[in-house]
Amino acid sequence: MVEFKGHIKYAKLENRHVLTVNMGKKKHGFNICSCCGGAEVADPKGQRKVRVSQPFHNRSAVCNHRFIEKEVFLGYEFLTDMFMLDITYDNTNLVGRTIPEERIILRTAVTTLLEAIKKAISLELDIDYNEINGGWMSRSDNDGLLHLELFFYDNLTSGAGYSSLIGSVLDNVLQRARSVLKDCNCSRACKNCLDNYYNQRNHDLFDRHVGLQLLDYAETGALPEKYEKAKQQHYLIPLKHLISEETGIKEDEIPMQFEVLPALIKKPENDGKTMFVNPYDLTDWLPNTYLTYHPLGTR
Ligand SMILES: [Zn+2]
Ligand SMILES: [Zn+2]
Repeated sequence: MVEFKGHIKYAKLENRHVLTVNMGKKKHGFNICSCCGGAEVADPKGQRKVRVSQPFHNRSAVCNHRFIEKEVFLGYEFLTDMFMLDITYDNTNLVGRTIPEERIILRTAVTTLLEAIKKAISLELDIDYNEINGGWMSRSDNDGLLHLELFFYDNLTSGAGYSSLIGSVLDNVLQRARSVLKDCNCSRACKNCLDNYYNQRNHDLFDRHVGLQLLDYAETGALPEKYEKAKQQHYLIPLKHLISEETGIKEDEIPMQFEVLPALIKKPENDGKTMFVNPYDLTDWLPNTYLTYHPLGTR
């Protein structure tokens, strides 16, 4: 492992086995006819009848799909060079893996950063977006520290050698990733910054602000900066409207202080006087936030 900067280390891993697996919808795999090879995505609820269609027709009788293998994962293994970026991650001050809402935010942050770096690599090395692939995982080390490991590897089975070049241009790659995340005006992600045809399955997870918070932390070790009062007030508008509508209390007389924190920060416990919220609590999770407020606010 090479120490890079801040909390970032990296390693070049040569000739690694990569196993790519398609687990279908909600990890229910595929139903496959072992006679004709016809396949369908397995129904996650398992209620629908199996309906594979024959992939080709020849002179023999139409297949009646008598031998269907159910819920099979499809995958293949290949040898390639890899580049691994290791971020030592502080899950006492930042969102961790145990609380469900925090886990969603952590997943959002890493998935977004991975995507930004992947785009940055393709720009820096002047190669097609699809020539580099990537993935990530988190692991605890022997000292109980959490590590986020981001992997990048060549997409061709031969390994064109692109991933082994990343280490030598990592500074430029991270600078480009930063500008992908920073230099856009959209609220979370759009086709000008992160979204493209090939990553559409992750579009809902991309949030360039949270991705940037993670990149800043990784590069400098600094926790995300708190929002100014005016920005916090702006974020709080929907919640204050909702409280006022539901309780009849005027918005400026709500008996609770609110503090809006960047999403990557682990929120302190609400203490009955101050309630800590993040931008997700004030948008996607607003109804739940109101339910958390309500018993506190009526005390
Ligand atoms: Zn068949
Ligand atoms: Zn954008």
